Amino acid sequence: MSALDVAIARKTYRKGSGITALAELAFAVPAGQFLCIVGPSGCGKTTLLSVVAGLDRDFEGTVGRGADARIGFVFQTPRLMPWLSARDNVRLALEPRPREEGRAEALLREMNLNGQLNSYPGHLSGGQQRRVALARAFVNEPELLLLDEPFTSLDAPTAQQLRDLLLALWQKQRPTVLFVTHDLREALSLGDRILFLSAGPGRIVLDLPVELARPRLPDSPAVEAARKRLLDIYPDLLRGLDAPKRAEDAA
Ligand code: ADP
Ligand code: MG
Repeated sequence: MSALDVAIARKTYRKGSGITALAELAFAVPAGQFLCIVGPSGCGKTTLLSVVAGLDRDFEGTVGRGADARIGFVFQTPRLMPWLSARDNVRLALEPRPREEGRAEALLREMNLNGQLNSYPGHLSGGQQRRVALARAFVNEPELLLLDEPFTSLDAPTAQQLRDLLLALWQKQRPTVLFVTHDLREALSLGDRILFLSAGPGRIVLDLPVELARPRLPDSPAVEAARKRLLDIYPDLLRGLDAPKRAEDAA
């Protein structure tokens, strides 16, 4: 059974631009799947997550996901409350369910933020802020977790630490995941499956299962080989997506 059933006929921003951001986009996601969504800037990835989350209801079509499914969201920037400590940022998100005392703290400790529980976001590094944002998204044990390019603008080792934390939490809690990225290596290293979207309005141009064994590092030979194979078969698919990050690519 699908945890998520998306059938968007059309999403137009009627105020302002009048742009149709999404058209005829349909896919289903089985429970617990880690789905990566890859597409060029402006193709509608953020719009898609807003629609799936129910933050944007002004669209034609349907999103089936259980009306009261618990949803976690990790935005492109950490979006922490600057006047609240790390602990209180996570506690703020806690739903008033049967309260497990110390839940926010336990999760923050699991994310190696033991020494930062009482620190304010302004005193945390970029990587630490993103760990708090991850903890906030996981604290209610979401059934559906949406992440919008969450690890961009971090240095490579910090981004990898966060990916490892994300995978560990996913393996423990098993939410259904939609992870938006424009980095093919990141998608290949994380996903069970990758949806490739065209330039806007984004349509699915390839729905790719990823069958590489875990763990996979973005720079591992297996990921690199899979990426090369894809680029050989679909030379146009990734145009404008996978900006060269390494010297040998730039050469
Ligand atoms: P992506 O996340 O893939 O970069 P977005 O979903 O942010 O793409 O945007 C898709 C298209 O919709 C773009 O052309 C963008 O300019 C437009 N758009 C996004 N948000 C708004 C908005 N609030 N009002 C008007 N147009 C928007
Ligand atoms: Mg976006």
